[in-house]
Amino acid sequence: GEIASMMDVPITKVIGTCMSLGIMVTMNQRLDAETLTIVADEFGYEVQFITTDIEENIEVVEDRPEDLKSRAPIVTVMGHVDHGKTSLLDYIRKTNVIAGESGGITQHIGAYAVKLENGQRITFLDTPGHEAFTAMRARGAQVTDIAIIVIAADDDIMPQTKEAISHAQAAGVPMIFAINKVDKPTANPDKIKEKLAAMNLLVEEWGGKYQSHDISAKMGMGVNELLEKVLLEAEILELKANPNKPAQGTVVEAQLDKGRGYVSTILVQAGTLRIGDYVLAGKNHGKIRAMFDERGHAIKEAGPSTPVSVLGLDGAPTAGDKFNVYEDEREAKQIAAKRTQLIREQSVRTQKHITLSEIGRRIALGQFKELNIILKGDVDGSVEALSDSFLKLSTEEIQINIIHKGVGAITESDVLLASASDAIIIGFNVRPQGNAKMLAEKEEIDIRNYSIIYAAIDDLKDAMEGMLSPEM
Ligand code: GDP
Repeated sequence: GEIASMMDVPITKVIGTCMSLGIMVTMNQRLDAETLTIVADEFGYEVQFITTDIEENIEVVEDRPEDLKSRAPIVTVMGHVDHGKTSLLDYIRKTNVIAGESGGITQHIGAYAVKLENGQRITFLDTPGHEAFTAMRARGAQVTDIAIIVIAADDDIMPQTKEAISHAQAAGVPMIFAINKVDKPTANPDKIKEKLAAMNLLVEEWGGKYQSHDISAKMGMGVNELLEKVLLEAEILELKANPNKPAQGTVVEAQLDKGRGYVSTILVQAGTLRIGDYVLAGKNHGKIRAMFDERGHAIKEAGPSTPVSVLGLDGAPTAGDKFNVYEDEREAKQIAAKRTQLIREQSVRTQKHITLSEIGRRIALGQFKELNIILKGDVDGSVEALSDSFLKLSTEEIQINIIHKGVGAITESDVLLASASDAIIIGFNVRPQGNAKMLAEKEEIDIRNYSIIYAAIDDLKDAMEGMLSPEM
């Protein structure tokens, strides 16, 4: 409606144009930037985007290099079920008490910080697994600096190990391997390293670039050395933030506590958060009434890479929501109201993710350079054959990336990865499992199923040439 009146053309014509592009819209619907550009172009207009007032009058002031101070790395632990993620997090939580302060880490607030003997800090996200990691990423939040991939030395590289690796790689997050359970007589760490090497992940002690350490999370063996390797990796990353500005960060978790009201754990990523600050987090807002660290101690301020649970928001924001501090309470409230409205409108939102039938159009527009594919199949042979053939379809204009491949049904975690990485999912003789189908519909992820290798290759080829007929 709005764009029609801006161009002074009948609404029906705009709707018609959208339909010819394969987008069904109503007059009240918001269009994404790309569609707006194409629609306007059809009517001879060029679109100029000015910052929307939703994103949000926050003054983006570039930090001066001298204001940047090093900050602690933020680490997520991932790996196959039962390989020891929780045990590792628990061991670190129990043994590393912030030096000079009393009391162990007793509260589960979703993240915790530890201080090593050399005085350096590491912050851990306390929800292990790549699902949580990628769910946050699908919401546009990337908080993890380094991923620890836990692999049990008495087992193998399992499907979820592969998933965790793909998810970390798709996010561009460096990995450190923790080869766990080496206390067990059946443990064979070398076998794991060999298997990693076969996946092109050569560990450092074998001349590769990936750090790894043999540990026993249960006995605590090797854990300190593993943490030292985390710090080494962090040093290479040169993680820095400006502590002297209003705080920004991401919500890690939030809940309603019977006695205390809404309690949100937030991870400060830049700036310093103080009691009394007026905070906007997702569509919730409020003045910070109290802050607690992971040991339940009340604190007055929190700098970069510090997790804190805060009281004072008017609701429970969602994990992955960004938060910002506002000087003007009124302004924060206005933005919160606008966000709520926008979220309501977007429940009938236009297509957000790439689909196979969209590819040709986007390539023709010259705005599309890479196609991310997640490939699942019933047997290893066909997965490899398809993956090789897909990669060969890359052209000068468009690069095909297989961001994850594996044997087995299409899972929720595949859909999340597709959502976070704007990928399509191709299944060969496998179908979505459990809630994966529903999630794919909600996230608008294109899942294609094939049972003939050539059919899959031909479709992709056609799609890239803009020749694919839309799927029924
Ligand atoms: P998660 O599913 O990856 O979080 O795995 P858990 O931490 O829950 O561990 C699964 C099982 O493996 C539990 O019974 C742990 O006690 C056991 N486990 C974890 N780490 C070790 C280890 O280093 N050595 C031995 N022997 N058992 C371990």
